[in-house]
Amino acid sequence: IKKIGVLTSGGDSPGMNAAIRSVVRTCAFHNIGCVGIYRGYQGMIEGDFEEMGPRSVNNIVNKGGTILKSARSMEFKTPEGRKKAHENLVKAGVDALVVIGGDGSFTGALLFNTEFNFPVMGIPGTIDNDIFGTSHTLGYDTALNTVVEVIDKIRDTASSHNRLFLVEVMGRDAGHIALNAGIGAGAEEILIPEEDLGLDRLLDSLRKSKAAGKTSSIVVIAEGDKIGKTVFELKDYIESNFPEYDVRVSVLGHMQRGGAPSCFDRVLASRLGVKAVESILEGQSNFMVGLLSDKIVLTPLELAIKGHSEIDLELLRVSDIMTI
Ligand code: ADP
Repeated sequence: IKKIGVLTSGGDSPGMNAAIRSVVRTCAFHNIGCVGIYRGYQGMIEGDFEEMGPRSVNNIVNKGGTILKSARSMEFKTPEGRKKAHENLVKAGVDALVVIGGDGSFTGALLFNTEFNFPVMGIPGTIDNDIFGTSHTLGYDTALNTVVEVIDKIRDTASSHNRLFLVEVMGRDAGHIALNAGIGAGAEEILIPEEDLGLDRLLDSLRKSKAAGKTSSIVVIAEGDKIGKTVFELKDYIESNFPEYDVRVSVLGHMQRGGAPSCFDRVLASRLGVKAVESILEGQSNFMVGLLSDKIVLTPLELAIKGHSEIDLELLRVSDIMTI
């Protein structure tokens, strides 16, 4: 291996820059070249490359987003697109690839390896934490901190006005952000896709907290919850059952994907980048690097894509106990 290409693909997440920096500097440490590929697979198809050295990644460890930009590429889903991408890599002397992204990006990487026998290594970058083979994806910890900080602020208003706030958080089909940020922010109830709480239990819980003398409440709702109502329909439903409640909705949105990465995400990104490059140099391919029991380990990309990232339902019980 003489030169490694690195790209960020799919949804961005805080810590991607720290991972790029780590990949670039680990390549320099081992005296091999590194090429930054802009705009994910689309940039690979268009040959949008830049040679990178340790000084190309100064002052980015603390920056959200990705300096290489991210993109979704329909063309990469076609054999012609992937062929073009491969030709560009060969022309640039790139002989291995580190893909920072989510399961879609990994699916593309695996296909690319199958077609061209090209070494690929994945780094999980998404705030949703929905990837098998790592307890934490890059950006997840930062997103949790962002959500908790915002809910703390919402709580001020909720308690001043005796309001019930429904706070919708990201996570796609997973409830990791909702469950953990919900506990961290002291939410009354947490609705996640992994457990169908049902409307009756939600009403029951609100009834109980009212009887217990709570005058304001925060309910955290994962965007992928199974309640079958939008958060705005849920507001109407609660108000029709509890006319005395003044219900407000806050959909947090993309603020959750931005911001400076937490220290945890910066350290994780640094460790994952080193492991990704060194695994390639050891002749490995088709793995994702991830964190399990505080060790950086390899998981076959195929498993990372197909596997299910389990949520710890014991946390729901913890949440229930905390809101007695
Ligand atoms: P994420 O990596 O965050 O899951 P996407 O699912 O949007 O994001 O995937 C990112 C990119 O990966 C897509 O735009 C596409 O270029 C590539 N990709 C996704 N699925 C496939 C596939 N089945 N075959 C080839 N490329 C794919």
